[in-house]
Amino acid sequence: MNVGVAGLGAMGGNIAARLIEVGHNVAVWNRSADKAKPLTEAGATVAASPAGLARQCDVVITMLTDGAAIDEVYNGPNGLLSGDVKGKLFIEMSTVPPTVETELAAKVRVKGATLVECPVGGSTAPARQGKLLGLMGAEPADAERAKPILQQLTRRLEHCGPVGSGSAMKLAINLPLMVAWQAYGEAFAVARSVGWEPKRLLDLFVDTNGANPALKARAEMIVTMLEGKDPGPTTFSIANGAKDLRTMVATGEALGADMRATKAALSGFEDAVQNGQGGGDGSRMVVYWSGRGKS
Ligand code: NAP
Repeated sequence: MNVGVAGLGAMGGNIAARLIEVGHNVAVWNRSADKAKPLTEAGATVAASPAGLARQCDVVITMLTDGAAIDEVYNGPNGLLSGDVKGKLFIEMSTVPPTVETELAAKVRVKGATLVECPVGGSTAPARQGKLLGLMGAEPADAERAKPILQQLTRRLEHCGPVGSGSAMKLAINLPLMVAWQAYGEAFAVARSVGWEPKRLLDLFVDTNGANPALKARAEMIVTMLEGKDPGPTTFSIANGAKDLRTMVATGEALGADMRATKAALSGFEDAVQNGQGGGDGSRMVVYWSGRGKS
């Protein structure tokens, strides 16, 4: 099948690599062209614009930062929806407010095409290995159409309900994870005062009920950062964490929920972004906050 991927960041690049590996003809497009290079070396073709990508593919997957990026890539002058896309399937996988997906689905429908949303849980390694947690929102027949390809990207694929429900579920499952990074930062501010070496500290933390799988997976990275060394590539950026927390607060409040822990975590993430940490991995929150002190 001719599959297109638009948005070759940390997640989209790995998703495209996985699709090449399982045997699809993959075409890619990214705003910054350099990110396509490793994929062309693996066999992908590069489209000159989102419109060109849609022209040459039956299915187009998008994995972009936020609603503004989605608007540009779908609705821009050379956007995915600018040409004849009748009958095509778009699978939108970004983490965005449910309303972004429902409004997009309506625009796609007007063009005679289909939109399935499928935001995901799991980071860059599961994306590369086809082991993401897929949270699909779609009409039943559309979900059946998207399933074969999404099953190649996921270890578990949930059909949450209509478009919008996948995004709501994604924001919900990500919320405790994001709040936890802020909590670990504060916990480590106390723990570091005891004066242990970073390795011993992490070894203790991962052996407690408070350690979630993300802390366990990044323990080594955190030790490296606490030792003042380079932890390697970012898997999930603090800037994207702030974006997710903002979306969670807005989505919860629109439902009448009191989002006080989420708001507190958001202020911690925004502070980190303002202090130049936005490109760092989410796990850097542990290092930043534990060393930051009170303002
Ligand atoms: P990323 O590495 O920052 O990549 C973002 C992508 O969006 C890049 O391809 C970027 O293009 C593109 N983009 C941003 N603004 C754009 C615009 N105005 N026009 C066109 N393209 C634009 O982010 P990521 O980690 O891959 O995350 C992508 C989405 O997946 C986000 O919604 C994130 O919350 C979600 N997510 C991430 C993870 C994770 O662990 N990383 C896990 C689950 C879900 P350029 O390269 O040109 O900047």
